[in-house]
Amino acid sequence: MAEHVVIIGSGPAGWTSAIYASRASLNPLVFEGAVTEENRQQGTLPLGQLALTTEVENYPGFPSGNLESYLDDSIEKSRRQYMAPHMKEGVSGPELMELMRQQALNFGTRVVTDDIVEADFDVRPFKLTARSGDVVEAHTVIIATGARANYLGLESEDNFKNRGVSACAVCDGALPRFRDKPVIVIGGGDSAVEEADYLSKFASQVLLVHRRDELRASKIMAQRAMDNPKINIIWNSQCVEVLGDDESGVTGAKLQSTVDDSVQEVEATGFFVAIGHTPNTSFLKGALEMNDKGYIVWTKSHRTNTSVEGVFAAGDVADDYYRQAITAAGTGCQAALDAERYLASQGL
Ligand code: NAP
Repeated sequence: MAEHVVIIGSGPAGWTSAIYASRASLNPLVFEGAVTEENRQQGTLPLGQLALTTEVENYPGFPSGNLESYLDDSIEKSRRQYMAPHMKEGVSGPELMELMRQQALNFGTRVVTDDIVEADFDVRPFKLTARSGDVVEAHTVIIATGARANYLGLESEDNFKNRGVSACAVCDGALPRFRDKPVIVIGGGDSAVEEADYLSKFASQVLLVHRRDELRASKIMAQRAMDNPKINIIWNSQCVEVLGDDESGVTGAKLQSTVDDSVQEVEATGFFVAIGHTPNTSFLKGALEMNDKGYIVWTKSHRTNTSVEGVFAAGDVADDYYRQAITAAGTGCQAALDAERYLASQGL
């Protein structure tokens, strides 16, 4: 028997679509990804990118600090008695993802801890092959496999992830360790400039390290970097080592010139990498329309439809612009509703 909805991916988009699909009695099956060394190394373990971060301060409903007193202060007393007691302080990325997963399970979502390695969308029902070799048939598929941040690939960079090394300034920039301290941003595109600009609100100084003598960023963004007195661009340089220790995390970086042999060390408490993302779409092997960077193309305005009828995409796998947990969750909800309506239209 073919599944009504198979969801591939287990970040905010995947779990939100599972919550909506299970509440619509579609009995969804989620492939949350496999726990393998390869997935660990490339940042594609179950629960996605949020599981790789620490505090989440911008997901609505989970303010940092003491949630109990926040609830006391902000919710009418007569309504408080109906609410469950809060967990502890704020929410971390992994906690938020576990909560979303549990919420999907509570409504009957079934979960397989494996990757889908092949998708055949030329047949109906669709055929999905798991890494285990199992084949699942599905009337609709929601792809929510996300994108992974590109890193430089240095061992020292890996050592200090979550201890000063980050690929998301919007997620981590406001953390206390970066406040009024110098931070480094690697990259020269719009993301790097945007992250540098954002970080300049908190940091004492932002060192924007770019490997060439000209930014790739758009003119207006590049000008913003030049005009910001807190951003200091270090041209023609690449990082060869992230410096730090066990106690403090990141303390700086060793930079090598790309035009001569000179090397310099700079001090910083943060090391933000903004050298692009890679969508997790290689398993699709071109079965769907994708853009030149490999992101799935949404083929209808304000809908999650893809170029294959019955296949929907949600979250970062189809969005290289917003890339936020809340926007991923939003399109996850849309994908479940789109799948439900498609199934109804087919009498399935
Ligand atoms: P991008 O435009 O591809 O830029 C990546 C940057 O990282 C480039 O400057 C590149 O250097 C550098 N880089 C790549 N690999 C590197 C390495 N191994 N070591 C050091 N540097 C490396 O990516 P993006 O900035 O993430 O932007 C992606 C897309 O989103 C773009 O189309 C961008 O316009 C858009 N975007 C727009 C906005 C906005 O309008 N507000 C904000 C963010 C993103 P080179 O220049 O030398 O290649």
